[in-house]
Amino acid sequence: MKAIAVIPGRANSIHLREVPKPQLEQIPGGRGVLVKLTRVGVDGTDKEINAAAYGAPPPGDDYLILGHENLGCVEAVGPAVDEFQPGDYVVASVRRPGKSLYDKIGLQDMTTDDTYFERGINLLHGYLAEYYSDSADYLVRVPKGLSKVGVLLEPSSVVEKAIGQAFEVQRRLRVWRPRRAAVLGAGTLGLLASLFLRLRSIQVTTLGLNEPPYLNAQLLDEIGVRYISTKRMSLKEASARFGPFELILEGTGFSPLVFQAMEVLAKNGVLAMVSITGQDRTMDVPTDRINLGYVLGNKVCLGSVNASRDDFEQAVLGLSAAELSFPGWLEKLLTHPVKGLDNYAELIEKLTNAKGAIKVFCEVSGDMT
Ligand code: BGC
Ligand code: ZN
Repeated sequence: MKAIAVIPGRANSIHLREVPKPQLEQIPGGRGVLVKLTRVGVDGTDKEINAAAYGAPPPGDDYLILGHENLGCVEAVGPAVDEFQPGDYVVASVRRPGKSLYDKIGLQDMTTDDTYFERGINLLHGYLAEYYSDSADYLVRVPKGLSKVGVLLEPSSVVEKAIGQAFEVQRRLRVWRPRRAAVLGAGTLGLLASLFLRLRSIQVTTLGLNEPPYLNAQLLDEIGVRYISTKRMSLKEASARFGPFELILEGTGFSPLVFQAMEVLAKNGVLAMVSITGQDRTMDVPTDRINLGYVLGNKVCLGSVNASRDDFEQAVLGLSAAELSFPGWLEKLLTHPVKGLDNYAELIEKLTNAKGAIKVFCEVSGDMT
């Protein structure tokens, strides 16, 4: 079958290749599910893997099949699978268990191992291919009504994890009902975070670089979220006018913002960070002031990576609620489709250069309802 792969460590090595079709029998215990991919999204992680910033092939291979934001249709199931049937739409999670205690209880997103196994990213092949097979344990079903936008489930799971973690941490307070939240960044993660917070009836202010009129700002307006361009108003000013923010989610990839966010975070507030910052940036930080604010305000700052099975399931509910509350909104995020695996060059080109792109994705197979 066809797959889009890179040679990890070699920049711009993205290419199409012929690879063996995965078999159900390769999955132990009769728990295999063979899935035909329909849509696979790409993001900054894929861009950086193709730039050879990170990424590793499975042992024994010199190539890595790219792609972790997957959506597909079940083609066949092993004898010990009763939760899925052919025709079901499913999304597979990204990380697979390593050795730590957390991995053993199904929370590999919380692993303490140094090495982590992520499909399409590190040591395991990804989903930019015609088929994949995996254990039913790692798959979640997507309702038919989400058969197009289900490709947003993986990034949604990352956001739902961060929000879920914030609430989980705040159980220490007995009561925590944040009324005002800020989302830093208005890309795919920022838009999804704004949506899921809004669906929790929180007043959301989202900050991004671009000045309106601009599609992302318009989309936020449609779901009742305030958009602010940081060219017109700083986070500090936004906090003075629309805050204080009890929950801030940082997803810009520009790490200095984390420290600005720490300064403005409300008392008893949580700052959740989800940006993967591969560079080596440094800056001056008002350490005394931030420390004092954190101590006197009982504030929390948490990092969040990847997502557990529960977060994927929460994300299915989140996307379903979004379709009911704002019908058609999610589909507007799917701005840049690329037809077929053969067009891998166009896929990476759009990911790197397309102006106004929210989600660039590959329509791997067209036969969807
Ligand atoms: C993926 C996550 C992954 C993280 C780190 C992100 O792009 O969406 O699933 O854990 O990269 O590799
Ligand atoms: Zn990703």
